[in-house]
Amino acid sequence: MAINKVKGTYDVLPQESYLWQALEEKIRYILGLYNIREMRTPIMEYSEVFHRQSELSDMVTKETYDFDDRGDRRLTLRPEGTAGIIRSYVENKLYASQELEKVYYIGPNFRYERPQKGRYRQFYQFGVEAIGAIDPSLDAELIILAYDFIKRLGLKGVRVRINSLGDDVSRENYQKALVDHFTPHASSLCEDCQLRLHKNPLRILDCKIDGNHEAVKHAPTPQDYLTEEARSYFKAVLDHLNAAKISYEIAPKLVRGLDYYSHTVFEIEADIEGFGAQNVLGGGGRYQKLVKELGGPDLGGIGFAFGMERLLLALEAENVNFAKESELDAYVIVFDQKHKTLATKILYDLRQANLNVDTNFTGKSFKAQLKQALRYQAKYLIIIGEEEFNKGVVGIKNTQTEVQEEVLVSKVCKYLKEKMEK
Ligand code: AMP
Repeated sequence: MAINKVKGTYDVLPQESYLWQALEEKIRYILGLYNIREMRTPIMEYSEVFHRQSELSDMVTKETYDFDDRGDRRLTLRPEGTAGIIRSYVENKLYASQELEKVYYIGPNFRYERPQKGRYRQFYQFGVEAIGAIDPSLDAELIILAYDFIKRLGLKGVRVRINSLGDDVSRENYQKALVDHFTPHASSLCEDCQLRLHKNPLRILDCKIDGNHEAVKHAPTPQDYLTEEARSYFKAVLDHLNAAKISYEIAPKLVRGLDYYSHTVFEIEADIEGFGAQNVLGGGGRYQKLVKELGGPDLGGIGFAFGMERLLLALEAENVNFAKESELDAYVIVFDQKHKTLATKILYDLRQANLNVDTNFTGKSFKAQLKQALRYQAKYLIIIGEEEFNKGVVGIKNTQTEVQEEVLVSKVCKYLKEKMEK
């Protein structure tokens, strides 16, 4: 019996992988413009990297893949990118050599969620972290980058939603206000929110179940509890966004799902056909405690992440042509299988000349080989026939102009090279 893929996972098939590659290339190109280097961390970490004292988000408490390995170590498949990056930043003492470390990552994450369209148990994220400094211009730099990235992908109506949760004092006052606000409604909140009320009331605002609860709709917003310093920090971030003419909107209720955010939080949206409320492509925020919590010095950072599947779905829904399937420079066709060794020689020579070429390996008829060549969008056909073979030549046909010329076997490389340069 055939074995199926694990529920909530998917395969990237050969005919669609070019889309992933093109998206990754775009990411790497744009990140280069911002002088941000890649970092690769393992997909599994010791569980305490994610299951920290302070972390109460559903993602971490209920959705992680946790297991014991054969040596009885408790491990977790990463559900998000930031914590592993910070673990490595601390372990490798990156703070000792750079005041500010700016890195990006692209890779799979794992969450045991209910699978649905665009929501998987293994999904890819691309994210950026700038660790080691707190400065409004840095918050703005990352927001500008996230915005720029989505715009450059070719999506329309790109905008930033931004809010500030403020510093520790602001957050504390705000949390108290939320507890006061929600306590009289506690019994009508969902079970999870009743727990959140005393552990992290901010998360009630993000609740998928209580989203439409009257008390949630009328809850106080962080803006009203910002200290003077936090307010001026936020204003400075906005000044930078204004200077770069980024279109943003202040979203007073935006708090984001994770527990570690303070000061700036943001999301990037675009107008996407059929996405409705799912038009948030990614987001992030500033974290001031995470580095210390993972055993490092008292340094802050800011980061964001985008879901790659959602980006690809958005590009598809909007019919954005951002990727091109690769075309072949040439395809070698043989009339008679006995000439296959010549085909092998020609293919090898052409590849040494850095041309991308292919042939048929299944003994197909001339017609079938031709069809395959056209499916690969070969620019040239190299045709080896009996008569030509005896003369030491091959036919080379331009598939666009349909012009065919006889070329000496020893000159095939030179001939095609010259044609390609034109
Ligand atoms: P989060 O880390 O929850 O803030 O999510 C950041 C982005 O990752 C979201 O905007 C989604 O695009 C994407 N994402 C989160 N969870 C999933 C999932 N289970 N499947 C696919 N994409 C996801």
